[in-house]
Amino acid sequence: MAENQPKRVVVAIDGPAGAGKSTIAKALAERLGFTYIDTGAMYRAVALWAVRQSVDFADPHRMEQLALAAAIELAPGRIQLNGEDVTAAIRTPEVSSGASKIAVIPGVRRAMVAKQREIGQKVSVVMEGRDIGTVVFPDADLKVFLDASVEERVRRRLLESRAKGVETSESVLAAQMKERDQRDSTRADAPLAQAPDAVYLDSTHLSEDEVAEAILKMLRARVTNGKEYQSHE
Ligand code: C5P
Repeated sequence: MAENQPKRVVVAIDGPAGAGKSTIAKALAERLGFTYIDTGAMYRAVALWAVRQSVDFADPHRMEQLALAAAIELAPGRIQLNGEDVTAAIRTPEVSSGASKIAVIPGVRRAMVAKQREIGQKVSVVMEGRDIGTVVFPDADLKVFLDASVEERVRRRLLESRAKGVETSESVLAAQMKERDQRDSTRADAPLAQAPDAVYLDSTHLSEDEVAEAILKMLRARVTNGKEYQSHE
């Protein structure tokens, strides 16, 4: 890249379910003019396709085929699978659990990581998931491991469900989240883990604005060097 070209920037945000990754990543991307990539939505889209095709989540070969064949398009806050808007359809408990089941399959991860790298190599991104700082972009300009207490994470998910008009019991939600976090943290391939050079941020007692401000401050200190970022506009 020429000296005077704006720098392409990668911000990686990893952490467990309900830590606030999507909200924060979306807000940051908007403020920076970067592309927001929700990698969890990509795993969810493949899981949804499996449900519709009656493919067993535990079948590694067929799941890898689906992951490779899936045409996934991301727009801010929306996702398309094979030309269909599946933004709402991927948010069911069945798909949440299915996504974490298929995410243990190395072939599925390879397919997803390849798609994610392709996007992040072209434009500046705020990418959130479980393995962005460890596997997808180990050279990211800024890595944040966003966390919150279990109680707070369950509370946030409960509010989200209610906002969508879905009544879920707190205990069911807590059990589902615990099961998913356990699977995500203990799988052999790319488990949820804080990269050694990631900044740990506990959002339990912070507002969305406070978290976003803290991350922006770190990013400015690391990457501007007096130059502008390369935004996608
Ligand atoms: O982020 P979200 O909760 O939507 O992700 C759904 C599931 O996809 C996670 O529970 C995890 O198993 C998987 N995932 C992953 N790696 C990522 C993003 C999500 O394994 N980078």
